[in-house]
Amino acid sequence: MIEMKKAYYADYIYYNNKIHKNSYLLTDKDIILGISDNLEDDLNEYEITRYENSAIFPALLNTHTHLGMSLFRGFADDLELMTWLKDYIWKVEKKYISEEFVHLATLLSIIEMIRSGTSTANEMYFYPDTTAKAFTDAKLRVVVGFGALKSVDNAIESIELFKTTDKIRSALCPHALYTVGKDGVKQLIEYAKPRDILIHTHLAETASEVEIIKEKYGSTPALIMDEIGGFDCKGIFAHAVHLTDEEIAIMGSKNVNVSHCIESNLKLASGIAPIVALDNAGANITIGTDGAASNNDQSMLLEMGTVAKIHKAISCDASALHAEKVLNFATTNAANALQFTDTGILAKGKQVDFFVLSFNSAHMTPVYNPISHLLYSANNSDITDMVVGGETIMKDRVILTIDEEFIKSEARKIAKTIKI
Ligand SMILES: [Zn+2]
Repeated sequence: MIEMKKAYYADYIYYNNKIHKNSYLLTDKDIILGISDNLEDDLNEYEITRYENSAIFPALLNTHTHLGMSLFRGFADDLELMTWLKDYIWKVEKKYISEEFVHLATLLSIIEMIRSGTSTANEMYFYPDTTAKAFTDAKLRVVVGFGALKSVDNAIESIELFKTTDKIRSALCPHALYTVGKDGVKQLIEYAKPRDILIHTHLAETASEVEIIKEKYGSTPALIMDEIGGFDCKGIFAHAVHLTDEEIAIMGSKNVNVSHCIESNLKLASGIAPIVALDNAGANITIGTDGAASNNDQSMLLEMGTVAKIHKAISCDASALHAEKVLNFATTNAANALQFTDTGILAKGKQVDFFVLSFNSAHMTPVYNPISHLLYSANNSDITDMVVGGETIMKDRVILTIDEEFIKSEARKIAKTIKI
């Protein structure tokens, strides 16, 4: 049987970063052919799917997370970062983390990704091959992190053996300067740079991290990262909360990729990253959820709403960050940072990666501006469908690639065994 080309109708389609009304997104397998706004167009050669009272948006990309942590969701709350890590998270990780644990936790997180319109994760945790397998089964995209917490040799050996595909890529992940040390991070940067490998790390997350680094090296984390070449290679830096004006200027001038993880920073009381200043200086701002133990969910939809609102409040300026700009952080900017440059925008020649937002609920009625509703009104349950690489991943709120009920029941079973 010959597979037909597909056309997806919606009341609104965010095509080429502009809203088109009552249109069809035209596709051939995984590639976007264009958009049809004209009722006179002949669509006979297309199999048509209609999303009534809905909008089609480019799928979101989560640029910093630890998907394998989802089984620790709600395990230790209301604690500051260092206590949370040392007294709780690192202890239970040592005791319980296994390949099976990470596989199940990652699949649980993937369910949340799909339900929040997210096609892609930039992931940093243990067992990268297991993570890759979960994503292959779910048919989503991932940048699998090869982590280094103390020794860096292992990460390099493992990434050399790893086979990437169109949807599964890899990155080197020194955890942070305060854990891996300046020499270790530098060694990974020097390995990654000539090979065009992405470096993914935590940077300047808390005030106490800045103090630890100052005491050890006599300088601040972002200045050290610059000194050892981190801002001159392909890199993405999570958090970037505690920065000086000089550091903001350097990161801006080098168009550094920043992953803004506002909900994790709020919950762990780490502070609020100077995202508007970094954006104005020229940095490439993207959004991450961080792990489910510090957020406590993987919803990029809700994360975008928080980003848009918090920077208005702290600057006392309602126009500080517009909804379109925040959507851009989570789509085009993120796709560029993760080098998935054929995603993050619906345009001719790009990948067919999108989600569908329904306007059927009371809180989504009426509609003046669909982007406003996406950022300020929508819940995960308003996302009904998702297509990634031309394949339907969720249809009418039913996930097709993962057995959601089975994963949730296995997660409940394992949680009963977890204690410090
Ligand atoms: Zn993190």
